[in-house]
Amino acid sequence: MSMTKQKTMMIEFRFEQAKLRKATELGEQIAKEAGFLKPPVDPFVVIRNEQGRIKHFGDNFGSDFDGRLEFQRPSFLLFYNTKYDEWSHAGKHHPKVSFTIGHELGHYFQEHHRSYLMGGGGAHGSLTEFQSNRMVEREADSFSSGLLMPKFLLGKIVNRAAPTLDAVKQARDMFQVSLTSMLVRWVQLCDFPCAVASIRGEKVGWGYCSTGFKNVGIYQIIRGTRVSSRNAKEFISQDSSFTNFREGSGYSDISRWVGNANQKCVVTEQYLVVPSTQQMLVFLTAEEEDIANDRDW
Ligand SMILES: [Zn+2]
Repeated sequence: MSMTKQKTMMIEFRFEQAKLRKATELGEQIAKEAGFLKPPVDPFVVIRNEQGRIKHFGDNFGSDFDGRLEFQRPSFLLFYNTKYDEWSHAGKHHPKVSFTIGHELGHYFQEHHRSYLMGGGGAHGSLTEFQSNRMVEREADSFSSGLLMPKFLLGKIVNRAAPTLDAVKQARDMFQVSLTSMLVRWVQLCDFPCAVASIRGEKVGWGYCSTGFKNVGIYQIIRGTRVSSRNAKEFISQDSSFTNFREGSGYSDISRWVGNANQKCVVTEQYLVVPSTQQMLVFLTAEEEDIANDRDW
């Protein structure tokens, strides 16, 4: 790849990240204004606060969409698919349903999404929770993530100690969100070195690195390529259909996951199969003393 191409990609990446961060911050702001002092954040409270400007309809919409927002003067209609409520869950709704409502609220609260809908732009059926590559969908996901897991409620929990999967699961239960959402948000807020990657069909779909990694030049999970970590490949080969829940662990070098990693460093890999979305998540953690932070590279 040429230097210019690489530079352009880096600029695009930063620009996207800035947009997504803005969406997340707006979600957090809405949670703050609604007055939540402890988790979980209930998106229905946010709807209620809009005093009739949003009407919501939950139903089993099959495989049509997860959620949908329409403008019908004078209000917005928010549809959400309750088919996921059939899966076991703790709160009133399955975490996927709450996340979807948060996502649709993202289309409502973000000015450029809202004015598009009010200006006659057609409603679209959303696929939520990081399943879409389209920027508006990713923005809405980021909004939902900030709303349901705002930094002012989650940040301290995340940075109390070096990350463990158990701590992530505990936080997931407290915030009543899915493990996928919590892992992504955890990594975003974490000052320790960690990362998350999603695998589908033996290829890396998406991934994120924590501030702890970014501080030492480890930025971007390699996407769209086959998994190259030997332990992860072994785990996948046991059942690559990802239709049954299972967990495992292994290790590799960070260069197996991150492009242009500036250094070598051993990462612990924890594997989690998520049958509902037929993907596998990999939680990567590194010991702080194993990564050079003196920036001598
Ligand atoms: Zn959407």
